[in-house]
Amino acid sequence: MVDISVIGSGYVGIVTGLGFAELGNRVIFVDIDTKKVEAINNSIPPIFEPHLEDLMKRNRKRYYATDNYDEAILNSQITFICVGTPSNHDGSINLEYVKSAAKNVGKVLEEKNRFHVVVVKSTVVPGTTEDVITPILEQNSDKEAFYDFGLAVNPEFLREGSAVEDFFNPDRIVVGAKDENSKNILSKLYSSFDCPKLFVDIKTAEMIKYTSNAFLATKISFANEIGNICKKLGIDAYEVFRGVGLDHRINPSFFRAGIGFGGSCFPKDVRALISKAEELGENPKILKSVMRLNEEQPLKLIYILKKYIPDLENKTIGILGLAFKPDTDDVRESRAIPIIKKLIEEGAKVVAYDPVANENFKEIFPDITYTTNVEEVLNAEAVLILTEWEEFERLDYTGKIIIDGRRIEKAKKEAKIYEGICW
Ligand code: NAD
Repeated sequence: MVDISVIGSGYVGIVTGLGFAELGNRVIFVDIDTKKVEAINNSIPPIFEPHLEDLMKRNRKRYYATDNYDEAILNSQITFICVGTPSNHDGSINLEYVKSAAKNVGKVLEEKNRFHVVVVKSTVVPGTTEDVITPILEQNSDKEAFYDFGLAVNPEFLREGSAVEDFFNPDRIVVGAKDENSKNILSKLYSSFDCPKLFVDIKTAEMIKYTSNAFLATKISFANEIGNICKKLGIDAYEVFRGVGLDHRINPSFFRAGIGFGGSCFPKDVRALISKAEELGENPKILKSVMRLNEEQPLKLIYILKKYIPDLENKTIGILGLAFKPDTDDVRESRAIPIIKKLIEEGAKVVAYDPVANENFKEIFPDITYTTNVEEVLNAEAVLILTEWEEFERLDYTGKIIIDGRRIEKAKKEAKIYEGICW
C-alpha cells in the first residue's frame, strides 16, 4: 500500500488515482477547481467516464480531494502531475499549469524530510521534464532532483470512453527515469500489472507518447484520405479497411474513415510536435498534412448536405452527437465544432442531441437548440451524424435524409436519402 497524491483531477488524474485506489493504495487528489474537489469528496464523478462511479463508490475510504498541496504532498510518497497541457495559439505546448503545479509541489518538498518521487504524467514535449520542470522543483524546494527527491515521467495512454478498462489493461507501461530510487518505487507500484514495462530515459519516455499519438492521428488522416478516394471511385471504404486491417502489420484499430479526429490529445499533441520540430529546424511534412486533412475533412459533410439542400438559410438541421467520440462528455476539438460553425454561417437552424455532452457543448455554442428528445433531431429537414454513439444504432431513420460522418449501419439501411462521408 502506497500513499499517492494526484495533482489535477481531470480525465487522466481521476482515472489514474481511482485505479491506484482500487489496487489498494491511498490517494489524495489535488485540484484548483473547488467544484471538482467537492464532487470527488461526495463520490460524484467530476467527468463522464464508464465505470468511474462504481470505482468511486467501491473505494470511498481510500481517497479524498483537497486544494491544499501541503496536506497532499506531506501525506504521500509519490505525486503524479496530471494537469492539462493545452495548445498555445501558435500550436506550441502551453506549460502554464505544469509549471504552476511543479512550483507548488517544490515548495512543499522543501519542508519534507522523507524521500518523495514526483512523476510527470501530463503529456509534455521531449526535454520539458529536464529543462523546465526540474529547475522549478529544485529552485522551490532548494533540493537536488534525482538525489534529494526522485523525478520520473510516466506517460498516459488511456482512451477516453474506455479509460478505466485501459488503466487496468494497458498495452504497456512506460517509465522515463534517471535515479534508481524512482525506478524502484515505480516498478513496485506497477508490479501487479502483467504487460510489457519499458524503463527508458526521461526524454525517450516523453517522445514515446508523442510518437504514439502522432502515429494514430496519421493513421486516421490516412484512412480519411483513402476514404475520400474510395468515395469518388464508388468503393465502400469500410470494406477496404476491413480487408487491409486484417494484415497484422497494419491492425484494424483506429483505421476507419470519417469526419476526422478531435479530443484533447491528438490535435494538440500533433501541433505541439510540429512546433517542437520547427523549433529544432525540422519541417515535419507528414504531420502538417495530417492536421490539414483533419481540418478539411469535417467540412466535406456540409458539401454533401448541400447536394440535397443547396440553400441552408433557415433550414433546420439536426445533429446527432457532439462529443468527440462515444462514451465521453469531452467536446474539446470535437469535429462537431467546425461543422456547426459552418451551418450557422450558412444561416441554418441547428438542433442538437448528445446523450451526455450537451452541457459541455453549450459552453462553446450557447445559441443553438439542444434537446434531450432525439425525435426532435430526427424531425429536422436533414440529419448529420457526428458521433458513433451505440444508441444511434437503435433509432428509426425511416423516411429521413441522413448524412453520416461516422457510419451508423441502421441509418444506412433505413434512411430515405443516405450518404456517408467516405462511402
Ligand atoms: P483535464 O483538463 O481534464 O484536467 C486537468 C485538471 O487539472 C483540471 O481538473 C484542472 O482544474 C486541474 N489543474 C490545472 N492546474 C492545476 C494546478 N496547478 N494544480 C492542481 N490542479 C490543476 O486534462 P486531462 O484530459 O486529464 O489531461 C491531463 C494531461 O494528460 C494532459 O497533458 C493530456 O495531454 C494528458 N493525457 C490526456 C489523455 C486524455 O484522454 N484526456 C490521455 C493521455 C494523456
